[in-house]
Order: sequence, then C-alpha cells, then structure tokens
Amino acid sequence: DKVKVGINGYGTIGKRVADAVHQQEDMELIGISKTKPNYEAVMAQRMGYNVYTPSDKTSKMKDGGIKVAGTVEDMVNEADVIVDATPKGVGEKNKELYEKAGVKAIWQGGEDHEVAGFSFNADSNYNEAIGRDYTRVVSCNTTALCRLISNIDREYGVKKCRVTLIRRAADPSDIKKGPINSIVADPVKLPSHHGPDVQSVIPSIDISTMAVKVPNTMMHIHTVNMELKNDCSADDIKNLLAKNPRMHYLEPGITSTSETMELARDLGRPRNDMWENCIWEDSIDFYEGELYLLQAVHQEADVVPENIDAIRAMCELEKDADKSKSKTNKAMGIGT
Ligand code: NAD
Repeated sequence: DKVKVGINGYGTIGKRVADAVHQQEDMELIGISKTKPNYEAVMAQRMGYNVYTPSDKTSKMKDGGIKVAGTVEDMVNEADVIVDATPKGVGEKNKELYEKAGVKAIWQGGEDHEVAGFSFNADSNYNEAIGRDYTRVVSCNTTALCRLISNIDREYGVKKCRVTLIRRAADPSDIKKGPINSIVADPVKLPSHHGPDVQSVIPSIDISTMAVKVPNTMMHIHTVNMELKNDCSADDIKNLLAKNPRMHYLEPGITSTSETMELARDLGRPRNDMWENCIWEDSIDFYEGELYLLQAVHQEADVVPENIDAIRAMCELEKDADKSKSKTNKAMGIGT
C-alpha cells in the first residue's frame, strides 16, 4: 500500500515537496493545506491536489473560489505522515495536533532539533530514521554541508571542518526580507548556527562556521576548508564526489549563482530547481595539506529529496538508504 502523505504549509518548500511526493510510486499525496486563497492555492487546485485549510479559514477560502477538501485536522487524521512546511516557529505549535492524531511528522530546518528530537540527512543518518515517528529535515545550508562532509568523512575521515557561508538574504518570491543594499554579519559571534546544526546530524564532526548575508535571492555559497585524517589527492576527492548523484559539477564557464540558475532553466528543471550541491570542480584543491572547495546551494530545492527519503525511512518503505535515494533521484530527475 502507498503511504499517505499530507503537506501542512504550501509555500516555497511545501509546494516542492508536494510535487515530489506526487512523483513517487510508493507514496500518495492526500492533500496540502493553505491559509489564504491566493495564487498558490489556485495553482494547487489546478494541479488536482486536495486543498485543506484551518477551520477558521474555511469560509475565506471558499469565498476566494477555492474548493475546500476539509480542515487541517481532517488532513492530519487521514495521513500516515505529515510534512510540516509552515514558517519557522509555526511547526512547533502543530506538534500537539500530530501527537493527538498519532500521525508521523517531519519538520523543516527552521524548527529546533528538539521539536523532533532527531535531525535527518539521507547521506548521513538514513538508518537512524527507520521507523521513527518524528524527524526534522535540516535546513538548506546544513543539508548541503552534511552531504559533503559525510561523503568525505566516510572515505577519508574529516579531522576538522571550517566553513564560511555567504547566504542569499531572501527567496525570489519574498517581498518582505532584506537587506537590499548591505552585507550583514549574521551572526557577529562565532559560530553561526550552521556548525552546531551539522552536529545535530553528525555529532562526531569538528566544525566551525561563520556566515554573512548578501542582498540576493539566488543561492548560497559555501567556502569550505577541511583537514582530513587520511592522505588523498584532489583527484581522489573529485572522483569520490562525482559518484554521488546529489553532487553536481558546474558546467564550463559558470562562475556565479546567476549562471547556475540559468543552467537550471536550460536543463528544464521544474521551478529552476537545482537539488544537488553545485560544486566548482576546479576549486577542489589542497593547500598545505588542507582541502579547499567552493559550492553553491539552491536554498529552495536541496531539502526536497531529503524529505522524500525521510518519509521512506520513517514509514519503513525502504530499509536501504542507497535504494531510497535512487528511487527519489529517479522519480525527480536528480543527477540528470
Ligand atoms: P514559506 O513562507 O514560503 O511557506 C510557508 C507556508 O505556510 C506559507 O504558504 C504560509 O501561508 C503557510 N502557513 C503559515 N501558517 C500556517 C499554518 N498555521 N498552517 C498551515 N499553513 C501555514 O516558508 P518556507 O520558506 O517554505 O519555509 C518553511 C520551512 O522550511 C521553514 O522551517 C524554513 O526554515 C524551512 N526551509 C526553508 C528554505 C528556504 O530557502 N525557503 C530552505 C530550507 C528549509
């Protein structure tokens, strides 16, 4: 039987996870929730998705021309697992609802680790998610770092990792966030939350991170520096990462996130999504025994396949991490 999935919160992440669930052979999207009858609700309806709404919003949604399938409670009761993609802080408040319904739940990176008590990345700790009731899929930046670090750690051992994150300030559809003309130290004090967040997935990793925010909507960039336990060459690292479909070596001539997003358009990706870590192959190098590299992260996209793998592990649809990742990659077109 297919696992029934409901998506609570249909914004940047929710709409993408909904489409990805819809593409999987072993999952059924029972519906999504919207609080406003806006273009996203209209689009969900056009996609043929059931639109649920908080009970106090039912008449507003109907007045706005949306056919309401039921309340959020109805969706939660019908689902085997809920992907909560509501804004940061809202997900935590929904926990009681999920507990009451006895439904499995996945939160996103805006919530604290403690909300789920377990933080997930498919490349790092898939097996630990098997059969769990609650999981948090870590943020876009943490996801990309966990992928990179666990792949290298498994093969060559990571002794120490230092990362500077240059973060996009807002998503392309976001008209409320800034800055529009500044570079912001965010935070000023060491470490940025990303290092501890990586450790919520891979506790054994020695990592420190600093972050700045730039007036841009297109992707984050990580400058990564690692000391490894075992000797290897830049080519060894290049060959290792090339084996993982969720790592993408940027095509010749690309030196920016703008060109990377143009590439995504040229690839015909839905919503221009680059689900993979976008790595500059030529940046992979050793200096005085330490590994350096540059990667770009499409914040709207990289966590989407991770949500799918989390569902598969939690609902015990697949006990083998590699097999789950392959199914997800194939259904979504990742690594193509
Ligand atoms: P978003 O604001 O784009 O979408 C959230 C959606 O939830 C909106 O459609 C909003 O109307 C709806 N909503 C608000 N309150 C609700 C409620 N009570 N019930 C149901 N729906 C409600 O947010 P987002 O960017 O998709 O972020 C969602 C989560 O994913 C956050 O935890 C965020 O930190 C995390 N995340 C975001 C990104 C990113 O780059 N956008 C990347 C990785 C993780």
